[in-house]
Amino acid sequence: MDTRSEDYRNLPDEQKIEARRQHAIDTAPKSYRATYVKAYGGNSKAAAIKAMCLRCSNNERKEVTHCRVFDCPLRDYRPYQTDAEPDEGGDE
Ligand code: SF4
Repeated sequence: MDTRSEDYRNLPDEQKIEARRQHAIDTAPKSYRATYVKAYGGNSKAAAIKAMCLRCSNNERKEVTHCRVFDCPLRDYRPYQTDAEPDEGGDE
């Protein structure tokens, strides 16, 4: 199945969800695909958070590390955090 988003519209909901998830897996960098599979498996909250942050950041680890969406409920739980976090209200 072609999984471009415009091809999802006419699918039943279950198939639409599956197609979108498979698209996320297929288009992720190879090193992150296992995270997406684990997240969609529904048994790992950590994998779900990691996959969400990666998707949100176009699969760019650095973007997750330097996430400045301070009001995101996942921010304190996101992966790839470092000790050198900017303070809220910093240099923006
Ligand atoms: S913490 Fe940041 S990277 Fe993760 S989902 Fe929220 S806004 Fe996106």
